[in-house]
Amino acid sequence: MASPAPLPPAEADPGARLVLAEHLLACESAVACARAVVEWLARRHGASTACVGPGDGAGASVCLASEGLTGAQQAALARAWDTQGSPLAGFRNRPGARWLAADAVEGAVMPGGFLAVPLGRSGAPAAALLVVGLPGPAVPEDVAWVASCAGPHLARQLASDARAPRRPEPDRLLRRVINAVSDPVLLTDTEGTLLFANARAEGLLAAGPDASPGRTRAVELNQRLFRETLAQGGTSVHRREVPLVDPLEGMDLLFELVTTPVLAPDGPSVVVSVLRNLTDLGRATQALGESYRQLRATEREARSERHRLDRVLDSVADPIILTDPAGGMVMMNDPAERLFAWPHEEGPGGESTLRRVRANDALFASFLANLLGPVNAGVSRWKSQLTLDEPSTGAPVPMEAMANKVLGDGGELTGIVTVFHDRTEVLERARLLERVKEVSSELEARVQSATAELAEQNEKLRRQAIQLEQASAAKSQFLANMSHEFRTPLNAILGYTNMLLQGVSGEMTPPQRRNLTRIDSNGRHLLEVINEILDITRIEAGRMPLHLSDFGIPELLQEVMAEMDPIIARSKLTVDTRLDDGLPGVWSDRQKVKQIVLNLLSNALKFTHEGGVHVVVEYQNATGTVAISVKDTGIGIDVSNQEKIFEDFQQVDSSPTRAYGGTGLGLSICRRLASMLGGRVSLQSAPGEGSTFTLHFPRRARRT
Ligand code: ADP
Repeated sequence: MASPAPLPPAEADPGARLVLAEHLLACESAVACARAVVEWLARRHGASTACVGPGDGAGASVCLASEGLTGAQQAALARAWDTQGSPLAGFRNRPGARWLAADAVEGAVMPGGFLAVPLGRSGAPAAALLVVGLPGPAVPEDVAWVASCAGPHLARQLASDARAPRRPEPDRLLRRVINAVSDPVLLTDTEGTLLFANARAEGLLAAGPDASPGRTRAVELNQRLFRETLAQGGTSVHRREVPLVDPLEGMDLLFELVTTPVLAPDGPSVVVSVLRNLTDLGRATQALGESYRQLRATEREARSERHRLDRVLDSVADPIILTDPAGGMVMMNDPAERLFAWPHEEGPGGESTLRRVRANDALFASFLANLLGPVNAGVSRWKSQLTLDEPSTGAPVPMEAMANKVLGDGGELTGIVTVFHDRTEVLERARLLERVKEVSSELEARVQSATAELAEQNEKLRRQAIQLEQASAAKSQFLANMSHEFRTPLNAILGYTNMLLQGVSGEMTPPQRRNLTRIDSNGRHLLEVINEILDITRIEAGRMPLHLSDFGIPELLQEVMAEMDPIIARSKLTVDTRLDDGLPGVWSDRQKVKQIVLNLLSNALKFTHEGGVHVVVEYQNATGTVAISVKDTGIGIDVSNQEKIFEDFQQVDSSPTRAYGGTGLGLSICRRLASMLGGRVSLQSAPGEGSTFTLHFPRRARRT
């Protein structure tokens, strides 16, 4: 919409008139013409001025423009112009200006009167009426000039406006008012084509030709969004939200669009739209919602924290009490309740329970008083030992109470937390520790005396061992000597006995021969005993060395059998030998192996009355051990005696009336000899079922 440049002040008549004339020529509507005239005159005369003319279409007249008149005055003037017989209606067909008194028009009192000037083409009825508030009937020259100049032009414009529907144009005040509104305000036709927009709305929905491409695009988008939103509204008053873009910043904006259709009876309908910026409101609402949600979450958290704290406090076995700065109890856990809270129901002994609880409370109050007193103003922690009463039993409970001040952000005291710790166990432990210390020192003393005694005993034992060793050596020496001393005369006795028995000194009578035979037999037995004792003492004295050599077991067995042959023949027992095939040669002490086998075989023959004796030789390749077993079908040996018979001088039957001869030294010598070979003698036997004695020894002996 083209609009003329603003009018300059009319100081110099010719120039000012020229400017007004040019301005009028540029005006494209009657209203613009009227406004130009009215403003020009008002500036020149400082008077109230108005221009009344036809309204839109065939409607009533209106004040086309006015300065210094109220709306009511404007309406009264327009009405008077239309009302037949009124002082103003006469001006329609009568040319020339005329002054009217102040109250000539009802409702349009102009102090000092006013000049009414009909405007239009000469010779034709006035198209409009110019009203200028003046105190006298004189027509100022400017007014006359304006009437002559603007009248025809205004008439022409009115005629042209009547042909082409006129777009409503708010007057300047209205325009200023609307521009002053901070919200965007728009006037559009029903399709959304912009007819008028205040500065704020232009910023959003209008872009000049020199606007940046970004701004132009934003404005186009805004126009499209606005039109679409407007199209949804229909013709009634409507509110809805419309999202727009800030063409300068590119930010998203949210507006509430309030549209009001204005239905003009004689012209096209227009729509007044007011946009209210909800962006900040939306953000504020969002922020408020967020804060509210956070508040709720914090509240929930605080509540669950409180529950958790309650549970934690209750689960602590030590009593805990929270008090306010004045010492009043605010919260306590279950263990504290048992000591400090009065029972809800009075049970048996309720009276004394209450008394004890009160006593506990009093003790606690005096404990807190210490911390709260002025002396301890700077102290944040207070520890003390109290002896409380167990309310139900009255038993003393030794406690350690530790109170901590809880300070607020500003350092002010907000509460006190007191934790009690039952010292019963600590005291009991200390008592036990004392006792343990006592016992341990007693024990230490005892151990010391026992150790001294032991040392003394050890010393004694050591001396005894030395003595024993010396005694044993002396005994061995004695026995060896004695055996030797015995053997020499005994051999002489046996030699002479033998000679006598062979008749070297003549024939003997049968009783002499019998007695001599007894001497011979006892002498031999004695020699056997002496030889065996000598063997043992030599072994024990370490004077029986090993003579290792390679030999074969079969040959050794043949020799044994040959030596035993007379006894075997006398016994009438079956005696046989069985040897493993491929029995290897042996590296050992041949004499000792033979002595052991001889001993075992002679025992087997001695203790077997019927059946037989079998000598079995086996070789165990895995262990490299030779096993020579002597099995008999004799009297057998009870398990209880199977260990004993390997000891010196031990026999199953050692009574003086025993049926079998012997010294009880044979097996003990066998055991010692086997040990020298690196082997052992084992026994399997049962009474009445015979016995099996086995010599186990390594095929290759190791020299020790
Ligand atoms: P001695 O045969 O000279 O008494 P030993 O030491 O050789 O002494 O034997 C000890 C005892 O072991 C024997 O007195 C006997 O009671 C028992 N004994 C030994 N060999 C046999 C055997 N083959 N059968 C039964 N008893 C035996």
